[in-house]
Amino acid sequence: MKVMKFGGTSVGTPQRMKEVCKLITSPTQPTFVVLSAMSGTTNALLEISDYLYKKNPEGANTIINQLEQKYMLHAQELYATSEYCELTQKFLREEFNYLRSFTKILFTSFEEKVIVAQGEIISTNMVTNYLKECGVKAVLLSALDFIRTDKNAEPDFNYIREHAQKQLHDNPDYQVYITQGFICRNAYSEIDNLLRGGSDYTACLIGAALQSEEIQIWTDIDGMHNNDPRVVEGTKPVPQLYFEEAAELAYFGAKILHPTCIQPAKFAGVPVRLLNTMDPTAPGTIINNEMQQGTLKAVAAKDDITCIQIQSSRMLLAHGFLRKVFEIFESYKTSIDMVCTSEVGVSLTIDNTSHLSDILSELKQYGTVQVEEDMVIICVVGDLSTDNVGFVTRACDALRDVPVRMISYGGSNHNISFLVRKADKKQTLQALSQSLFNA
Ligand code: ASP
Ligand code: MG
Repeated sequence: MKVMKFGGTSVGTPQRMKEVCKLITSPTQPTFVVLSAMSGTTNALLEISDYLYKKNPEGANTIINQLEQKYMLHAQELYATSEYCELTQKFLREEFNYLRSFTKILFTSFEEKVIVAQGEIISTNMVTNYLKECGVKAVLLSALDFIRTDKNAEPDFNYIREHAQKQLHDNPDYQVYITQGFICRNAYSEIDNLLRGGSDYTACLIGAALQSEEIQIWTDIDGMHNNDPRVVEGTKPVPQLYFEEAAELAYFGAKILHPTCIQPAKFAGVPVRLLNTMDPTAPGTIINNEMQQGTLKAVAAKDDITCIQIQSSRMLLAHGFLRKVFEIFESYKTSIDMVCTSEVGVSLTIDNTSHLSDILSELKQYGTVQVEEDMVIICVVGDLSTDNVGFVTRACDALRDVPVRMISYGGSNHNISFLVRKADKKQTLQALSQSLFNA
């Protein structure tokens, strides 16, 4: 069985929903479908929550009314028969009345989770009804019944595997199984979610749990590109990526995939294919456990990086210095991306600056601290193992005119990262594309 996940833009209009249904029903074997909320809906639901936190029911009601109108029109456009149109509109009215009920109660983060969950609940209902109207044997399974997180807010994989399999067992002989991406229950059985963009994660968890033959992530771009198409012209989709390469690219900027989502697929050995709903026959990108020797795959950039340098003569021949430095970051739950050390100093980068001033003030006990903001990490991903000679020289050589602030190589066999100023980002990406991919 294949798992197919469609993102917000792929189900963003009635027309797109119809096209998704064509894709879902084209395989002859049963498919498991994971849907996001229609694009813009999760943001609108968060805005409603924001008004409710601020005790402004009027503001919340305005957005609820706008959203309701939009969905009612969608239903009119989507269904050919009055039976399915009315059925769905009745469901939508109940949904929006439910949202209105939150304007009358005390609002907490618990209610917010319930509100944001409605986007996926609505999109999956609409698509399931459409499939049924078209005569497809489809069943809607609630993700709240089988996607669950543990006490650390991490997916509880054993639970998910057992319960996803049970869902299939209890609902045999359907052509299409549909469920919501993103939403889940937590360890206390409360409605929760897998964080923004989490539908990819849901799809990979289900694919791994069912040992499916492939997990397809359908978006509106034809796969992961070998450079940032917003900055560099002539980028191309990468045909194949090793799981680690894809994880590094997703983390370092390629927005197409949720960075941690492919871990379950990797462990289960289930390939993940990135496909484009606007161009369904394009080959896209396949992510699997094959490491292609001797190839560089892509370049990506991560913006809004802050670099911190700590210099201290106390570091010379001393031990425990790095531990003290890292503990400060840990105590403020701030993760570090790049690290470079010398005998008298350490430079590192962070992207979350919400505790920067506290961190800096503690660091000053240990040395002289300097901060540079507006930096960018440029990462080159591919086979960068040590017996693959030449690529590092080519990458470095391409940057001969760029003032590089830090270089990190050897952390894994798949990545070399350069820290440059934001002003030099475009030149860096272009130079690397030219040198590595002859673009
Ligand atoms: N609807 C959620 C979001 O907008 C989850 C997703 O689309 O993956 O973040
Ligand atoms: Mg997404």
